[in-house]
Amino acid sequence: MGKNIKDLDVRLQIAFTNAAEDFKKHYPNDPQPILTCTHRSNEEQNDLYAQGRTKPGKIVTNAKAGQSPHNFLPARAFDIAFVKPGNLLDWNPELFKKFATLLANKRNDVRWGGTFTSFKDYPHFELKDWK
Ligand SMILES: [Zn+2]
Repeated sequence: MGKNIKDLDVRLQIAFTNAAEDFKKHYPNDPQPILTCTHRSNEEQNDLYAQGRTKPGKIVTNAKAGQSPHNFLPARAFDIAFVKPGNLLDWNPELFKKFATLLANKRNDVRWGGTFTSFKDYPHFELKDWK
């Protein structure tokens, strides 16, 4: 699973970079945002889809290969997490809410997965027009 910011649509590169800078300014003592996924290959998408269905684990996606905005190159979505001292990752929903609010202050072309009605996906941000 790719984490390279260069694999993102340029609008998302700017959106992430600006929101991460704003986050550091507003919340310097909080865990800081990092990219955990940009582009995901079709094979990786099908592996993820199998999780909770034909493979062990919890269901984490309803998208098969080609149906996720991560499957495009450049990618039309990114996932984030937050890093605390000791390089530990943090997925506290409050952190995602803060980041999403800062991002939305500057962009109206990105949708946050925390606003999805069917399947809340807090780490996920995608272009509104990705389809
Ligand atoms: Zn995602």
